[in-house]
Amino acid sequence: QTPSAYDYPLLIKNILPTPLTYFPDREIVYRDKMSYTYVELNRRVQRLANTLEGLGVKQGDTVAVMDWDSHRYLECFFAVPMMGAVLHTINIRLSPEQLIYTINHAEDDVILVNADFLPLLAAVKDQMKTVRKIVLLTDGEADPDTPVNIEGEYERLLAGAAPDYDFPDFDENAMATTFYTTGTTGLPKGVYFSHRQIMLHTYGLMSGLCAYESQAAVNSGDVYMPMTPMFHVHAWGMPYLFTMMGNKQVYPGKYEPEMLLKLIVSQNVTFSHCVPTIIHMLVSSPVIKDLDLSRWKVVIGGSALSRGLCKAGLENGINLYTAYGMSETCPLLTVANLKPHMMEWDAERQVEMRCRTGLPVPNVMLEVVDTDGKPLPHDGKTAGEVVVRSPWLTQGYIQDPEKSEELWANGWLHTGDIGFIDQEGYLQITDRVKDVIKTGGEWISSLALEDIISRHPAVSEAAVIGVPDPKWGERPMALVVLKPGEEKAATPDDLKAFFARFAEDGVIPRYGVPDRVQIVDTIAKTSVGKINKKQLRVDFK
Ligand code: ADP
Repeated sequence: QTPSAYDYPLLIKNILPTPLTYFPDREIVYRDKMSYTYVELNRRVQRLANTLEGLGVKQGDTVAVMDWDSHRYLECFFAVPMMGAVLHTINIRLSPEQLIYTINHAEDDVILVNADFLPLLAAVKDQMKTVRKIVLLTDGEADPDTPVNIEGEYERLLAGAAPDYDFPDFDENAMATTFYTTGTTGLPKGVYFSHRQIMLHTYGLMSGLCAYESQAAVNSGDVYMPMTPMFHVHAWGMPYLFTMMGNKQVYPGKYEPEMLLKLIVSQNVTFSHCVPTIIHMLVSSPVIKDLDLSRWKVVIGGSALSRGLCKAGLENGINLYTAYGMSETCPLLTVANLKPHMMEWDAERQVEMRCRTGLPVPNVMLEVVDTDGKPLPHDGKTAGEVVVRSPWLTQGYIQDPEKSEELWANGWLHTGDIGFIDQEGYLQITDRVKDVIKTGGEWISSLALEDIISRHPAVSEAAVIGVPDPKWGERPMALVVLKPGEEKAATPDDLKAFFARFAEDGVIPRYGVPDRVQIVDTIAKTSVGKINKKQLRVDFK
């Protein structure tokens, strides 16, 4: 339906004119391979729309992408929804069973696939129910040999397409994007966002990251590089923000530590975002000591930022701080901006605030509630479930009315996270409902225990889980990866004694000290690089 002129809709197509006016010559960079300007981005978005139309894509159709982080992916972020089609960002790390489930469930019509994922797609091609056309994405290599029926290669298709496309107006509530949660067991659940929601979320990101005096305010002069894959909650919506502001953008392709560090230095990257695992990998890299990263701001989300990791980042010059959200929430909910008076605080207290889950950004209503749904006091200790409202939260899960109703019980979106709000209004997530350790009728925060052990000088990485116990129900167990060369510096007993010191100081209760500390080589991760506690609970039962 065509909206009235007065109710002019919030549409993704209205992002592009601004960078074209302000910074037409600013660059979009892809690895060390190529770069082009916003003028060229705009042209290619139109060529892509013509290409897709030529392949039969109509309003309401779904176009899926399987690619590393690239300029092509950015073009899809715009061209697909701007045509009125739905962009499905496929998680390239799903198992073949989950992959085909999401392709069929989202009813994908066209898939754009990087040559690297053709074998994965080939394995499920006979089970695809709705896919009509497949387009190949390459970095210019020869076309691979594949049993998948390819319609054409992206660059050649774009070169043959008309350069102008008149993107239509339509209802702002039309679906723009969809993707699936990373259910580590069970089937992934589909969430979806409208043009209106993406636009409001983009302004939410702008206000949360750019508007406040803080330790890390971002502006259009920053150089942006994602380190959260573009399939993971559309890179947290950041490509929309940085295109709207006309920033220079750098897309790193496949995440390889050397390439990421090389691009940060050679392209002067000043802003990135990632889960803790990625920054942990970079600060553990021996080459990092020789690099000047003092202009690099990195917002950490997806899991808690521990104080140990935050300090390690700061020591390497990286300006680290936290944000919070989930697939269901587009994702942004909170940012750990320090208030101006906190900028005077000593380093230790500042680290604590950087690791807080953060302050809700404008247009996010957030409470912690008890089991009856009653809001709890903002006293810095009373914990309950985090519930949220905002104009950019998913309406529900695709074709799953039951789970959607649970998600939205009592008119609030239930995050499944437990936390408290302090007197300054900062949220602190203490656990997921599913991960909290229930011992002798008391709850212990696994994140608080991880935060403690992260501060031991020999510890590289750690996870704390609840393991079944006949007497107490569950007891905490810590899995610890030591820094290289520190294997002799800390035994399980030393680490237990380290926990016990915090219990003596009253930071955690005595029963919070893990009974078992086990030194391990690696810790299981999910498809987006988070610690996989479900898996760990199975492995260490
Ligand atoms: P998954 O549930 O598969 O990890 P999401 O990427 O949607 O999928 O994860 C959302 C969850 O990640 C949140 O509900 C929360 O438990 C966790 N999370 C995200 N950001 C933070 C944060 N800053 N601190 C603690 N936990 C976080």
